[in-house]
Amino acid sequence: MTTQETLFSKIIRKEIPADIVYEDDLALAFRDIHPQAPVHILVIPKKPIPKLADAEPGDHALMGHLLLTVKRVAEQLGLSNGYRVVINTGNDGGQTVDHLHLHILGGRHMNWPPG
Ligand code: 5GP
Repeated sequence: MTTQETLFSKIIRKEIPADIVYEDDLALAFRDIHPQAPVHILVIPKKPIPKLADAEPGDHALMGHLLLTVKRVAEQLGLSNGYRVVINTGNDGGQTVDHLHLHILGGRHMNWPPG
């Protein structure tokens, strides 16, 4: 696993601004700068795991925490009618920032299949 500095590391350190909606010791959630839905949040671990494929057995609890953070943030933002959770992974997955992130998309009906 190669860990490299990304702009999400700077958001974690508050070196560049972000509209943060939730934070704890392990995770941060903030609004996507180019929202694809009325609600579009990114949930990231503070640990700089580049992508899902780089997660290790020792990240077991952290990965569960990220999913429960998704649930918490969705409830906080009133997404009671449902939402979509997306993890783009690697080139074919369309990942553009090499710091693991979970997209929460809500506030409209989501289509399937995705592009
Ligand atoms: P990916 O395509 O890697 O799954 O998602 C990366 C996401 O990060 C994109 O939806 C993009 O809009 C978002 N993003 C990129 N740069 C910034 C930024 O500086 N601030 C915020 N809040 N979101 C960003």
